Amino acid sequence: MNIVILLGAPGSGKGTLAAELAKVPGIAHLSTGDLLRGAVKAGTPAGVEAKGYMESGNLVPDALIARMVGDYLEQNAKLSTVLLDGFPRNVPQAEILAELLQKTGVTLRCALLLDVPDDVVVRRISGRRVCPKCGAGFNVDTLPPKQDGICDVCGAELVVRKDDTPETVRHRLEVYAGQTFPLIAYYKERGMLRVVDGSGDALAPKVEAALKELHD
Ligand code: ADP
Ligand code: ZN
Repeated sequence: MNIVILLGAPGSGKGTLAAELAKVPGIAHLSTGDLLRGAVKAGTPAGVEAKGYMESGNLVPDALIARMVGDYLEQNAKLSTVLLDGFPRNVPQAEILAELLQKTGVTLRCALLLDVPDDVVVRRISGRRVCPKCGAGFNVDTLPPKQDGICDVCGAELVVRKDDTPETVRHRLEVYAGQTFPLIAYYKERGMLRVVDGSGDALAPKVEAALKELHD
């Protein structure tokens, strides 16, 4: 099994990229946020332990998330590639992962950074509009509703989510940078960092570049 670590800011398109890549048989996308939310919902022992941390917006303990990722890798040993999204989150977790991989004989191929300038992220995210009534999502730049400010599906008035305002997005980017820059440096030092330009609109060429990374 191979591991590719995905790194990218909120709004970088990392989720979309991962979903595209995971269409290839044998490639799976493991989002630790989703894994944890699933465990909480199912009420597993790990979920019970994680719940309080998540609700208060804190990271769950390193040992807990490492055990969950380890279990996942063991249970899905037949996959050719796992795209790790959300783990490692900091350098101590990167060290835990390195140990885990050494023990299990899984290969780390690279840490793939989807690089998007802050301005582009702010523009993308602050262009988002959501329908408060039916939940439909739009974007004034890339996916505009047929009628300005009105939901195509149910006709309600569209709103900007509280955490999608330019100020909040800038703050989220700062938090992201604080968490992720040390990780970027960590993998760069080890010759494992690959950077993909995520600033354009077309995802396909980036997906191809990323896939090539997986097979090189
Ligand atoms: P966000 O992008 O809002 O942080 P995620 O879906 O990545 O959302 O994660 C949701 C929550 O799950 C985090 O706030 C944290 O509590 C927990 N979590 C996810 N990944 C990790 C991790 N690698 N280490 C510790 N906690 C994590
Ligand atoms: Zn609607």
